[in-house]
Amino acid sequence: MIGEKVQGEINHQINRELFSAYLYLSMAGYFASEGLEGFSHWMRVQAREEVDHAMRLFDHVLERGGSVELDSIDRPEGEWGSPLDAFEAAYAHEQKVTGHIDDLAATAEEEGDRASANLLDWFIEEQVEEEDSALSVVERLRKAEGDPGALLFIDRELGDRAAPGTGERSSGEA
Ligand code: MG
Repeated sequence: MIGEKVQGEINHQINRELFSAYLYLSMAGYFASEGLEGFSHWMRVQAREEVDHAMRLFDHVLERGGSVELDSIDRPEGEWGSPLDAFEAAYAHEQKVTGHIDDLAATAEEEGDRASANLLDWFIEEQVEEEDSALSVVERLRKAEGDPGALLFIDRELGDRAAPGTGERSSGEA
């Protein structure tokens, strides 16, 4: 049985993961409206990953005999000044999420909830990847500033990101 405190914080995190999905879906719309279909595709894939994160937490609460409480999801921004602005916002957002996951893991440890701590270890590793993938695009966009050809090259590359659950897998995935 999951304890009240950890359950409450995991419920908050479910909401944050769904907000992340909403934010990235909003960015997918922004990139599509800018004619950057590769960037838009990358953000759509990211949004689906965030829903998967929410579902892992959702399932964990239920498997532990707890109850899921879903709150309303905040409205995400819908406009960014440039692709770099959007990716910098995505990177900043992931850093914030990492902080929440770290706090949540600390609570699980304090409460002696090993099962939740174990699940959160997976999230801690996932956040390393999330920050790294957002930052790598930020860095490429910084180098491409003022060069439309370089922007379109990155757009083509991001368009190749494998979608989860389609049987397509990137080489590093199990
Ligand atoms: Mg996430």
